[in-house]
Amino acid sequence: MSTLRVKLTLTLLVATFASIAAVGASARWITLSRFDDLITRQAAEGFMREITAYYEEYGSWEEAEAAEPFPEFARQMRARRPRPGGFGPTADLVGPGPGGPADPSGRRPFVGGTGPARGPGATFGSTAPPFVVVDEGFTALLTLGPYRRGDPVPEAESAALLPVRIGDAEVGYAIALERPQLTALEQEYLDGIEQAWISALLGALVLAVPFGLWAGTRFTRPLTRLTDAIEAMERGQLRQSLPVPSTDEVGTLTEAFNRMSGELANAHDALEASQSRLSEQAAELEELSRRDPLTGLLNRRAFDDLAASVFAQAIRYDQPLAVAIADLDHFKRVNDQHSHAVGDEVLRRTSARMARELRESDVIARYGGEEFVILLPQTEPDGARRQMERLRQSIESEVWDAIAPGLRITLSIGGATREVGDSVETMLSRADERLYAAKAAGRNRVEV
Ligand code: GH3
Ligand code: MG
Ligand code: MG
Repeated sequence: MSTLRVKLTLTLLVATFASIAAVGASARWITLSRFDDLITRQAAEGFMREITAYYEEYGSWEEAEAAEPFPEFARQMRARRPRPGGFGPTADLVGPGPGGPADPSGRRPFVGGTGPARGPGATFGSTAPPFVVVDEGFTALLTLGPYRRGDPVPEAESAALLPVRIGDAEVGYAIALERPQLTALEQEYLDGIEQAWISALLGALVLAVPFGLWAGTRFTRPLTRLTDAIEAMERGQLRQSLPVPSTDEVGTLTEAFNRMSGELANAHDALEASQSRLSEQAAELEELSRRDPLTGLLNRRAFDDLAASVFAQAIRYDQPLAVAIADLDHFKRVNDQHSHAVGDEVLRRTSARMARELRESDVIARYGGEEFVILLPQTEPDGARRQMERLRQSIESEVWDAIAPGLRITLSIGGATREVGDSVETMLSRADERLYAAKAAGRNRVEV
């Protein structure tokens, strides 16, 4: 797995997890705080209705409290006038009296015409929050909750004050001392919401993992292909052609890569072709430099190189070796009596004929103007003599009239065979002496 793919997959997974978690957490928070607001408002509305009626009934807080405690008033009020749509147990809205224990069954319907009903019989009953009523100086106006009338209420300074209005006058301020407790039904409803969020979160995670893996692979595949192709180019496979995956930046990159790879491969092919042409030409030049242009035979330099190695081999394996120098007789006359062109043609024919007569392993070269040198490996003196005699006869018997009427060509040959202490030079010089002897003895002769 490529590192980029791992990085991209992890990024996608982390981003997906983080956003799901953030959305889940904020949705859960919003739901809970709206729910909280709703039940607090419900409780407050009920309390305000009853406390206002209480005040209106007696005209002042003092008289009201002197006549009957508010909890009693509220109980009777509810008994007289059950709230429309109210379900479940109606209970003390104001909580226990001063110093009394909190009443765990103190509940009132959550929906009663103002709350959102979820269907017939569905209620969100909530315990009433303990309220207290204070004046502008934060002094309790009634004996409610933990406070007696006249007690300072320190919480009032920081809590939200709900004005108790009689007509246009504000006769006091209600404050909730703590958040309402949830009923079992409300708690169940909240638990349901919580479970729904957890299931949604888990479901999203289960979907996010395969999606992250798929997307990581999907988006990095073209880059992985590019990396593989570049590595293949490094190994020498310059011509690469990748499928263009898209029209985006990766697609553009792939197209540019394909183009560059093609151009590089073309340039490389052209370079290789010109290199091989060059080396062919170099080989041709090398061959040309070793050949005599008129006859196509080896030239003197090539002969000297070859002779050295053939001679060394003969020494190493103690093999016989013969060398001969052949010279056309009275060649000057050929040029003089016919023409230089005829002379050239004679040189060409003589060369071809001698090359044909000799063995594959023999070496023949044009040594000078009308002078040839021949190397006969593994050849004893007798063999050399016979071979040279055949050469001489072959040249003599050639039909030279075809070149120029009346033309006659003969060859004199002097040869030498390897002796102890010889070098190529000493052998050549002995052969030259014998050639001279052959010429002196009347030409058209072999002296070995
Ligand atoms: P000999 O029998 O003593 O060898 O006499 P010769 O005339 O053959 O020897 P000489 O050395 O006097 O003359 C050699 C001639 O070969 C002289 C030169 O003009 C001719 N020759 C040398 N190279 C070439 C060539 O490439 N083409 C032609 N047509 N003639 C050449
Ligand atoms: Mg000659
Ligand atoms: Mg000569």
